[in-house]
Amino acid sequence: MRLLLVEDDPHLGDGLTVGLRQAGLAVDWVKDGLAAEHALKSETFDLLVLDLGLPGLTGMALLKGLRSRGQTLPVLILTARDTVSDKIAGLDGGADDYLVKPVDLDELTARIRALARRAAGRASPLLCHGPLALDPAAHSASLDGQPLELSSREFALLFTLVENAGRVMTRSQLEDSLYGWRDEPESNVLEVHIHHLRRKLGADFIRTLRGVGYTVPKL
Ligand code: CA
Repeated sequence: MRLLLVEDDPHLGDGLTVGLRQAGLAVDWVKDGLAAEHALKSETFDLLVLDLGLPGLTGMALLKGLRSRGQTLPVLILTARDTVSDKIAGLDGGADDYLVKPVDLDELTARIRALARRAAGRASPLLCHGPLALDPAAHSASLDGQPLELSSREFALLFTLVENAGRVMTRSQLEDSLYGWRDEPESNVLEVHIHHLRRKLGADFIRTLRGVGYTVPKL
């Protein structure tokens, strides 16, 4: 899952970026509202974590612009101002959830998982596909009830493919969901992960559409 973090406090932004990446998310971090608006217009993100007090363009203005363009991605606002009216304004302005600073990283990642689950139309915290079950909170997987060992990249890649089962995912969509803007992956890294996943899941679990991308067929 690829997430855009908008936070102008360098220490908080850095800490959240490191923590959310350790939780297996692809995080892109920008420090002002205008850079965030540019990123949201030119790239695809699965979720936005938005500070309200920002230079350039306030979080509320950014949120209103986003919703007026019809962008539906889930938005979680971060606010230092623990007042009821700020929370109401944020939620009525199009945010889906909020967290008051200081941010607890475990609570933030749990709320992100819940928002992503709802956005994907799932009620269960487990993502299941036939004999495969993926648990994004524990980062664990099982196949036919047996534990399945996956690296964090393999887990993230498989989760994206299964969540989009029946749709063809292009190379760049999959690479973005794994890496965001950082660590430009070597050209064949994606193929290596796919190869390892096929060894673990069976050759037919992930199909290649030559020149287009990869898909997990719908059941
Ligand atoms: Ca701020």
